[in-house]
Amino acid sequence: MIQLYIPLNFLGVIYREIKQSLADMERLFSLLDQNREVADSPHARPLVAQGARVEFSHVEFSYETKRQILFDVDFTIPAGTTTAVVGHSGSGKSTLSRLLFRFYDVNGGAIRIDGQDLRDITQGSLRAAIGIVPQDTVLFNDTIEYNIAYGRPGASIDEIVAAARAASIHDFIESLPDGYASMVGERGLKLSGGEKQRVAIARTLLKNPAILIFDEATSALDSKSEQAIQAQLKEIAKDRTTLVIAHRLSTIADAQQIIVLDHGRIVERGTHGSLLAARGLYAQMWERQLARPDEELASPPLEIAK
Ligand code: ADP
Ligand code: MG
Repeated sequence: MIQLYIPLNFLGVIYREIKQSLADMERLFSLLDQNREVADSPHARPLVAQGARVEFSHVEFSYETKRQILFDVDFTIPAGTTTAVVGHSGSGKSTLSRLLFRFYDVNGGAIRIDGQDLRDITQGSLRAAIGIVPQDTVLFNDTIEYNIAYGRPGASIDEIVAAARAASIHDFIESLPDGYASMVGERGLKLSGGEKQRVAIARTLLKNPAILIFDEATSALDSKSEQAIQAQLKEIAKDRTTLVIAHRLSTIADAQQIIVLDHGRIVERGTHGSLLAARGLYAQMWERQLARPDEELASPPLEIAK
């Protein structure tokens, strides 16, 4: 009994941590193979996604009954376009992506993909339709081929190589002593942050999801690799419905829509240009980042707010 209890409890801790960071969620689902918080309804159907329009409709949400986190969050990401969410730490940005992946159900309102309420579709089909490029990619202790193929188990080596080429990691892999059979991860070759990110991109390209979620890199990368990766992320986001959780405003200036969250409410929305012109919270955050480009949106800019 005790022997069973401890590992399960331990798994629970890992589960919460990973859920919190969004990192490597997909692997987690294969480990647990189910989500404890939500379940398929008896009449759940597979998602039928065409262009994958994502709609947050008057969403209310709290993790705990006493503390509401999101208030009447209402926005649509038109099919094939990019919406970025910005806001200070704790404003509820990552919560939006957790809800879209259906880690939790909303307490009010609804989230829909092409008109289908997330609560009416199977979790398997939902998660197959969403690709996540996390801030910090965790590689499995296995071959680089396995690590890329993880995006779509059963992919052929040709498809894997094509994805690696598209993610600009193929030449690097070829230069390794064992090529695609090289062992990576904690117990194998340690890849740099940029190389890991490219593996994650190759994985996502292979998965070819209709919807993408980026929880943006927090700066583990030098600015040159960061720029290269940003260009690549933009490339894979093209024609896919994309939700970007932005830490650096410079990377999302050309998003079709920018949502500014503050304490769980949308306080501004528009394009980079229109938001700057509005001279509100977004404009303040932008000025602050121009002054300190390496800083993320960690805490409210008190000295500016005064
Ligand atoms: P952001 O990504 O904008 O920094 P989050 O969406 O992660 O913010 O968090 C929004 C709020 O929800 C924060 O106040 C955070 O403390 C709270 N929160 C996040 N995860 C949980 C959780 N699992 N249980 C309770 N509160 C949570
Ligand atoms: Mg977050």
